[in-house]
Amino acid sequence: MVPGGGSHSWASSNEQKNRKGDVKRGSMGFLLSMAHRFLLVLLTVLLPLPSQAFVVATDGRGQMLRWPDPGELRFVIHAPQGDHDSLPPTEELVTAVSRAADSWSDIEGSLVFIETEVAPSGAIPPRPGYNRDDPSGNTNAILFETERWRHQPGAFAVTLRAYGSQTGNLLHADIVINAVQYRWAALEQRTRPDPDGDGPVDLQAVLTHELGHALGFEHTTTIPSVMRSTIGFGEICMRELSETDVDGLRFLYPPEMLDEAVAARVDNSVDEEIIALLGCSSAPQGAHVHAGLLSLIVLLGLAFVHSRAGASKSWP
Ligand SMILES: [Zn+2]
Repeated sequence: MVPGGGSHSWASSNEQKNRKGDVKRGSMGFLLSMAHRFLLVLLTVLLPLPSQAFVVATDGRGQMLRWPDPGELRFVIHAPQGDHDSLPPTEELVTAVSRAADSWSDIEGSLVFIETEVAPSGAIPPRPGYNRDDPSGNTNAILFETERWRHQPGAFAVTLRAYGSQTGNLLHADIVINAVQYRWAALEQRTRPDPDGDGPVDLQAVLTHELGHALGFEHTTTIPSVMRSTIGFGEICMRELSETDVDGLRFLYPPEMLDEAVAARVDNSVDEEIIALLGCSSAPQGAHVHAGLLSLIVLLGLAFVHSRAGASKSWP
């Protein structure tokens, strides 16, 4: 007699004793049920949104941005010549980059494989961003600014991406590390921040984050995730992909994508409109005509907002 089952036997026994009382209880139950639902709706509206899980980069039309051929991603490391107080020795720097790449490559159930190599000694670092004047000469690069930071003020690092406007295919990504304002290290463990507030910043942790942008992920509020927007000085917590990050990677680059990847290698003749964007916003700031080439959107991937308030506040 009780809708949904008879586990609450008081209602059915009351019905036998007093139908009027049962009606009252029925009304009361209805009111309680409505109040309960109202409360749930209210809580849903008023409480902070739950964590988001992974966030995939999209263009203005909701098309996902991803590499068509993620098993062969190559990044060239342009370590600055000579010693710099703001950077670890080149050998440690290269190891940190390589470990960050491995953290994305070592995930089963995803096609991603990131290879890193060191630029030949004396090689001139490319200008960050996609070079439309020489599309075939674009190589994904990891760059270190030591003299002048030209990107988002205060950022630890930026990732600049380029993608085709029609296909959403990522075509190029550069990661630029801000070694002008911050002191970088290949930390062995979590370390106390400097009292003067300029470091140390863990290179591997931040590169893991930036490589996530390069792969097509945006910031998330999920804890833990390497795609959180902030990290504190001396923290190494973003080195390890969380379950959320792994889910995102398997979603964006599943093994089933292999056939598409092969097709993408064959078909490079897509005629796309040319749009250029610079900045963290996805809104176009200008259009450029570039006849005969793939349309590209250059996006300043972001930015890694740091917190001067200190490590404990910016990273739970
Ligand atoms: Zn970021």
